Amino acid sequence: MPIYEYVCDDCGAHYERIVMNQKQSITCPKCESGKNTIQLSVFAAHGNGSKANGGSSSSGPISGSGGSCCGGGCGCN
Ligand SMILES: [Zn+2]
Repeated sequence: MPIYEYVCDDCGAHYERIVMNQKQSITCPKCESGKNTIQLSVFAAHGNGSKANGGSSSSGPISGSGGSCCGGGCGCN
């Protein structure tokens, strides 16, 4: 099924529609305007870049294991 991307001529919203036939009426989901400009097919133009960059935030404060100075031995508290 071809998916086309449209840009609304009235409000400029981008939206995609699966076009079954060319006589299908495409309306904007925001302002329901029928005036739009068709963009290139979403298939080949740009794949949905889903980069799996898991932000591993492992920079937390190291808690526990009060071994060295401020664990109570030297009395700096
Ligand atoms: Zn619109």
